[in-house]
Amino acid sequence: MTAVILSGRELAQKIREEAKKELEELYQQGVHPYLVSIQVGMHLSSELYIQKQKKSCQKLGIRYATYHLDENTPSEYLEWEVKSLNENPNVTGIILQMPFPSHIDPRPIYSIMDPKKDVEGMHPENLGCLTLGRPTIVPCTAMAVFELIKSTGVPLEGKEAVIVGHSEIVGKPLSLLLLSSLVTTTTCHIATKDLAEHTRKADILVVAAGVPGLIQKDMVKPGAIVIDVGINLIEVTPDSSGQPVRKTVGDIAPDVAEVAGYLTPVPGGVGPVTVSMLLRNTVHAARLQAINQG
Ligand code: NAD
Repeated sequence: MTAVILSGRELAQKIREEAKKELEELYQQGVHPYLVSIQVGMHLSSELYIQKQKKSCQKLGIRYATYHLDENTPSEYLEWEVKSLNENPNVTGIILQMPFPSHIDPRPIYSIMDPKKDVEGMHPENLGCLTLGRPTIVPCTAMAVFELIKSTGVPLEGKEAVIVGHSEIVGKPLSLLLLSSLVTTTTCHIATKDLAEHTRKADILVVAAGVPGLIQKDMVKPGAIVIDVGINLIEVTPDSSGQPVRKTVGDIAPDVAEVAGYLTPVPGGVGPVTVSMLLRNTVHAARLQAINQG
């Protein structure tokens, strides 16, 4: 079997078009979404992601600004900044760019954010709604993976899903989304004793560990839907014995394509859909605030 490659770019385009339609409706009501991104210190990986966000927002017609704070910014100042953005009626969305420097715990910052401006879906109220099966604003990457799985058209009810990685942005919210579709869900992590024993049973396998080649061909059930969330920058030496070059790979070994039914590529799989989800969440957040005010 050769896996069907699930292009994230096509799905991302479809989601962007839907968001654009919703945005036009908001414009007609005089609502203009405005997303503010807060970055503390400098990280190459988040810098690239911020540029993508900015470009995508501007292309769609969403105002986007970056607040770049110094590496040594105290947590108290960040809290003050978020509170003032909460109170600013022009700002409809706030995004905190991870990673933060080690002296700042992002959780209390998410907690003081207006949940209707939390476009990342990380406020306890938004995560609580997801737990109760009434999702409002859902973490972008988890939702991107869920949409990619649904895009296969395979009926989900009763399927076995295994998620490798239990982070708050991917593994935990995704397990709740899958549960809401009556999927039997197992979440594995670094302390899981025999990873392959779990992954081999998965009709749906999602891997978000950040470990290149973690999932090998013999760990995958034939015909499974396999979603590779991992983004790893590795150095490879080309055959022509040139200089090592940097390459982005996921967590899934390439020959998994020989057994899987569906497989997402890296790059071009989950990443583009995640950016589109941020646009969808930004439009949705602005709509929630407009409903609240009207
Ligand atoms: P994280 O880095 O916070 O945690 C990693 C998770 O993987 C933990 O649950 C850990 O227990 C588990 N893990 C690590 N090694 C393991 C192993 N050997 N066996 C089993 N489990 C193991 O997770 P994250 O922030 O969700 O990021 C995971 C990966 O996904 C990273 O590569 C990150 O860059 C990528 N990512 C991609 C996107 C995207 O849009 N494509 C978005 C977010 C994260």
